[in-house]
Amino acid sequence: MHDQKIVIIGNGEVIYHLAALLSALSPDIAACLCGEPSPTAEQKSQLQQMGVTLYDAAIESIEGDSGQVRGVRLGDGRLLACQAIFVGTKPQPHSLLAQEMGCQFDERGYVQVDMLGRTSVPNLYAAGDMVTPFHQLIAAAASGTAAGSGINTDMVFPPADSHSQGESVERNGFINPSFLRGKGFRRPSPAATRKNSAPE
Ligand SMILES: Cc1cc2nc3c(=O)[nH]c(=O)nc-3n(C[C@H](O)[C@H](O)[C@H](O)COP(=O)(O)OP(=O)(O)OC[C@H]3O[C@@H](n4cnc5c(N)ncnc54)[C@H](O)[C@@H]3O)c2cc1C
Repeated sequence: MHDQKIVIIGNGEVIYHLAALLSALSPDIAACLCGEPSPTAEQKSQLQQMGVTLYDAAIESIEGDSGQVRGVRLGDGRLLACQAIFVGTKPQPHSLLAQEMGCQFDERGYVQVDMLGRTSVPNLYAAGDMVTPFHQLIAAAASGTAAGSGINTDMVFPPADSHSQGESVERNGFINPSFLRGKGFRRPSPAATRKNSAPE
């Protein structure tokens, strides 16, 4: 994207944010304003100071050749030539199932979970886009790993059990070794491991 012509499409709330981020990549950015809210007069002037050209006209079509975008055609016939288009969106989580199950949500609407994916509802775990604003596969997979770890941990060491011992099963996101010792757990010796895994 470096130094290429970029068109961004969106409304006032996201376009300023997107333009600010993309202006680090290219000095040639045009913004097509569509939908409400419009940018405020102050935002418009800041965008212009960043070198962003604003177009407040309906979009007719996106044009391209052989899979490569060529430009954005406006309703008034003008073509904004570009090599890339970014559409500004504002994700709004709406986890109906989690709502129905009584989960607590944070102020942005994400399901509240602890480090091991536990929701506020006992035995209910959540992961992915519903728990994090970083809407990317790698973040979703990472939170899924945490929730999987939480489920496994809680099945082996039920949380209520750990509370009655006054020792938390979890410390810094990992199983707390002193909790395990309190449960009489000892790391098996290498000899015992070899013996257990030897074929009959
Ligand atoms: C257009 C687009 C482009 C993207 N591009 C990228 C990219 O390039 N790189 C990247 O890292 N990320 C990208 N993402 C983000 C990425 O897709 C998500 O962050 C990721 O898929 C989130 O995974 P998830 O498991 O939380 O949710 P999802 O992948 O959305 O999976 C949720 C699943 O649950 C199902 N479901 C929902 N409700 C119910 C119900 N009540 N009962 C049963 N099933 C239900 C849904 O049908 C869906 O299959 C993109 C997202 C979009 C929309």
